[in-house]
Amino acid sequence: MAYDTIVVGAGTAGLVAACLLAKEGRRVALVERHRYLGGRAMEQRFRGHQLGLGSHLVEDPGDSLTRACEYVGVDLVHSERSDSMPFWDRTGWRPIQELYGGSAKQGLKRCIEALTEMDYADLERWDHASLREWMAQYTTDEGVYLVWEAISVLEQITFQPWEHSASENLYARKLHYEKRRTAGYSFWPMGGWEQLWGRMADAFLGLGGELLQPRTVDRVLVENREVAGLALRDGDVLEAREVVVSAPVWDLPKLFDDGVLPWDLMQRIRLLARNLNRACWLGYWIAAEEPVIAMSDREMASFFATPRTGLPGFTLNFTGYDGDVSPDGEFLTCFGAAFDATEHYGDRRWYEQTLRDLWLDIEEMLPAARHALWKKPHLVTTYGVICKPGLVGATRPDTLVRGLDGLWLTGDTTRARGIGVDKAARSGITAAEAVLGRRLSFFADTVRY
Ligand SMILES: Cc1cc2nc3c(=O)[nH]c(=O)nc-3n(C[C@H](O)[C@H](O)[C@H](O)COP(=O)(O)OP(=O)(O)OC[C@H]3O[C@@H](n4cnc5c(N)ncnc54)[C@H](O)[C@@H]3O)c2cc1C
Repeated sequence: MAYDTIVVGAGTAGLVAACLLAKEGRRVALVERHRYLGGRAMEQRFRGHQLGLGSHLVEDPGDSLTRACEYVGVDLVHSERSDSMPFWDRTGWRPIQELYGGSAKQGLKRCIEALTEMDYADLERWDHASLREWMAQYTTDEGVYLVWEAISVLEQITFQPWEHSASENLYARKLHYEKRRTAGYSFWPMGGWEQLWGRMADAFLGLGGELLQPRTVDRVLVENREVAGLALRDGDVLEAREVVVSAPVWDLPKLFDDGVLPWDLMQRIRLLARNLNRACWLGYWIAAEEPVIAMSDREMASFFATPRTGLPGFTLNFTGYDGDVSPDGEFLTCFGAAFDATEHYGDRRWYEQTLRDLWLDIEEMLPAARHALWKKPHLVTTYGVICKPGLVGATRPDTLVRGLDGLWLTGDTTRARGIGVDKAARSGITAAEAVLGRRLSFFADTVRY
């Protein structure tokens, strides 16, 4: 069977790219190795709760995944947005606004003004710098640094001042200020993740697309520097002159024979794919008969150090965003603490001890957790490539693969700016447009590469 375009992977970027290409009249096959859709943003059911295992909230201010869904007739309903940002400062939770009062507000205002005046393309000059270096041009106030760095902990899971990438964080701040007049916009997709991915897949099929699932791609076939199709692990060969690969960088090298990808690209992929360059956290899912919260039901709470582990992180009460996430009378919270992969990746004893200490921290920081109905520990090592200075921007693979006709790369581990569903969706739109060789006017307002 020959297709115009084959998309590898039915995560966010792959689903978006496949839907757009099918809508534009291409004969598209979407190949996914798992039985479920959504990739890292898959959903899991546990004791009646909807755990967005791979994905919690979307940071789409409306122009990326929401817009792509709209394009193919899928209504993505946003939950109400977060209503507060509590911050833990060792003595307890405080609204983050209290940390940059008085004259500091002027510093924050200067940062916001400079950001709004800046062009997205100017961010390229900041790919090797930290957020604090950029902010220091406009303020010396630690409280102002803290606010945007706390958001970086929430979004990028980076935590040392010199590790918050300037360009990735400024990109997200600029987007949210411009589109929603707020520092951070995020929502839960009403109905949940499984339902959303299922509806997108239905839209894709309705547009004539073919979903091959579960089927695993073994190799992208290339002849004379042109894509010829795919070899599947079950021995089948699919012919196509155009292939879009959405597998994250750590799955990319095995899809190509040696020497097929340009040497410099392969070296960058190998660097990014190293386990030590992952954004990682460990934490707990917690269910209780009362909301396990810091200050309010729909908060985005963060901290730079828990009392015992000293790790930074976040906590979110999902039931506050969508009551249907949990059975009646129960509430679901996720608490995550980021850790440095270069120090602890793969260290099981450290994981076990840290999870024990973390639970004691949670009971201290969120007293309602002491009466938890259940708690489920989790370890996350596939969130994404960490957005540290030097590991972003031009270091990431471009959508276009130079010197090889018919191959495009997409997903949030490519040059997509930031981690997450929103960034993956933007990258999926870029990939579809690259295949088509033109921008789609429907996405004229969508910020993307
Ligand atoms: C625990 C966790 C929590 C997260 N929380 C959030 C959050 O709160 N907010 C947020 O925005 N983001 C969050 N993320 C990140 C978010 O899930 C990802 O950024 C996003 O899903 C990436 O989408 P993608 O399409 O780029 O890649 P992926 O989702 O990784 O999609 C790639 C797809 O390719 C498939 N594939 C790979 N190789 C092959 C092959 N050989 N053959 C066939 N198929 C293949 C994979 O199975 C997968 O379905 C979280 C991630 C994790 C793991």
